[in-house]
Amino acid sequence: MSVDNDTNDTARLEYLDALGITVWRERAAGSNPGPTAATTVNAEAAASAPGDSDMAELRATVAACTRCDLHKTRTQTVFGVGNENADWLVIGEAPGAEEDRRGEPFVGRAGKLLDEMLRSLGLDRETVFIANILKCRPPNNRDPSAAESNACRGYLDRQIELIAPKIIVAVGRIAAQLLLETDTPVGRLRGQLHRTGPAEIPTIVAYHPAYLLRSPSQKRKVWQDLCMARAAMRQQSG
Ligand code: URA
Repeated sequence: MSVDNDTNDTARLEYLDALGITVWRERAAGSNPGPTAATTVNAEAAASAPGDSDMAELRATVAACTRCDLHKTRTQTVFGVGNENADWLVIGEAPGAEEDRRGEPFVGRAGKLLDEMLRSLGLDRETVFIANILKCRPPNNRDPSAAESNACRGYLDRQIELIAPKIIVAVGRIAAQLLLETDTPVGRLRGQLHRTGPAEIPTIVAYHPAYLLRSPSQKRKVWQDLCMARAAMRQQSG
């Protein structure tokens, strides 16, 4: 869970990044455990309220969810992936086509860039937790409707409670605005420390990796935001 596992490597990446050089490295084969099946949890657990659930029950509840119409078009729910006791919680918008097919968040091209961003901090998918505002894919990757995000919000709130991260990184406009309940543009939300929920968890907003694929010149700003997140995380750790 520590971000200090490989200080030299991180410093090197920081240095390369400062030069504008992106370093791509392969993850070890088979290092991704993938989504945990919800099939072993019984139907009673699946019916319980998010506010009372442990993580396995919550996962089952989400897998059986019919709270909004997205359940009619999904292949499967995408609960989230990673360390359920993570210091870092990354929150994106909603599953896309590949995520819907594989049941794991951020597995497409944007996901590879997210992995790269995490790696630049000495983190990976197994040490952080990655979730989305919506657990089901909106058809044609359209923005979530208010009804859909309201229906799903309790699941995310319970994930936040259970994980109790030291830092939340909201990536992209949709995640940032819904999480922070604001309509302020993402360009103004980034670069400052926010607080989420009753526990007032330090929260940083960063551009979505899909946007960075289209606008690579914005990577430097994301790096600044991630450094801010790391500083806030370290402050939490005392
Ligand atoms: N974009 C997101 O916000 N979430 C995903 O899981 C994939 C792409």
